Amino acid sequence: MSRRQTLPDSTGHFGPFGGKFVPETVMGALSELERAYAKARQDPEFRREFHRLLQNYAGRPTPLYDAKRLGKQFGGLCVYLKREDLLHTGAHKINNALGQALLAVRMGKKRLIAETGAGQHGVATATAAALFGLSCEVFMGEDDIERQNLNVVRMRLLGARVSPVRTGTRTLKDACNEAIRNWVTTVRTSHYCIGSVVGPHPYPLLVRDFQSVIGQEARRQILQETGRLPDLLIACVGGGSNAIGLFHAFANDRSVRCIGVEAGGNRLSPGHHAATLLKGRPGVLHGSYSLLLQDRYGQVLPTASIAAGLDYPGVGPEHAYYKLTRRAQYVAVTDRKALEACRLLARTEGILPALEPAHAIAYLENLAPRLKRRTVVILGLSGRGDKDAQTMAEHLGG
Ligand SMILES: *Cc1c(COP(=O)(O)O)cnc(C)c1O
Repeated sequence: MSRRQTLPDSTGHFGPFGGKFVPETVMGALSELERAYAKARQDPEFRREFHRLLQNYAGRPTPLYDAKRLGKQFGGLCVYLKREDLLHTGAHKINNALGQALLAVRMGKKRLIAETGAGQHGVATATAAALFGLSCEVFMGEDDIERQNLNVVRMRLLGARVSPVRTGTRTLKDACNEAIRNWVTTVRTSHYCIGSVVGPHPYPLLVRDFQSVIGQEARRQILQETGRLPDLLIACVGGGSNAIGLFHAFANDRSVRCIGVEAGGNRLSPGHHAATLLKGRPGVLHGSYSLLLQDRYGQVLPTASIAAGLDYPGVGPEHAYYKLTRRAQYVAVTDRKALEACRLLARTEGILPALEPAHAIAYLENLAPRLKRRTVVILGLSGRGDKDAQTMAEHLGG
């Protein structure tokens, strides 16, 4: 086999991972979504409309910025930052929210449902709903509502209803459960807008397609800038959408190494991190078979990370497949290293990154002594750090 499998099979599997593990009541809605998306994917008008929105509304293409001072700091690497932090609403999540909102309108839906942890996906979905005149309800763990108050205020200003979830650990995983539960009772009028490459088929495929614009642009930009392909791609992995969005366009370029960086929390023992690809075992969560942080009874383990966007016990099935086939390598970085990397990028380049992509910066710093000088690296800068400024100040002092 010369080319890798980049489309799931007819049952929605990437190798052994993926599928549709959902209650019967949702199967109909998934089939409807699958048919609608299969049609939209082939429709030039849908693609044109999506790209027009990405360009004129979200601010694409994003720059591929040659971070010379950072590269020098890392011993003479050529580090290019893919600047998703410059997008409308401050992160890559808007790419996916716009794509799914457009699809929802095509299906005649009047309402968007979303789950959110840090609130970034909630804000992106509320934004897209406002843009298309759809109503919007965002499920959010009660603990997260407290921790991420700024984004709650933003969602409400955008006209969304933010519904607190009081079950379980009152965080993202529980918000997902509640969103699915709500969808079951409202499938005729509502589209469930999932925020990452997770969930049952066809979500991992369609979210990846909407995010793959990141890598398509980066590939074109690096060829224009350097005349060759990069040696290394590196991005943070929560559910995995910004990373797969960057990797996808290079999937068949064997010379391009891919590294996904997970949240190592305060240490790599159970309950203290969110490094699913590194420490997880196969299992079913939120409708798909993938790697999963679980105890020996199969119960989902609590997770911890300073980066709310990475704080999730599951991961997209395509990443599990990348790991299995060794197309990508997965590593983890601790909270402390990520915090220090925020400050490093702010002070060497004048860019304050979100805590999530700071994990990728920290790992690159760690790896740099083992890389040849002039190695060409593209780093996915998935979001800006404004939302984390308070956390950084508390931990780094001043
Ligand atoms: C949500 C988020 C992530 C993690 O989600 P993925 O689906 O893994 O990309 C990473 N970075 C930022 C800035 C986010 O908001």
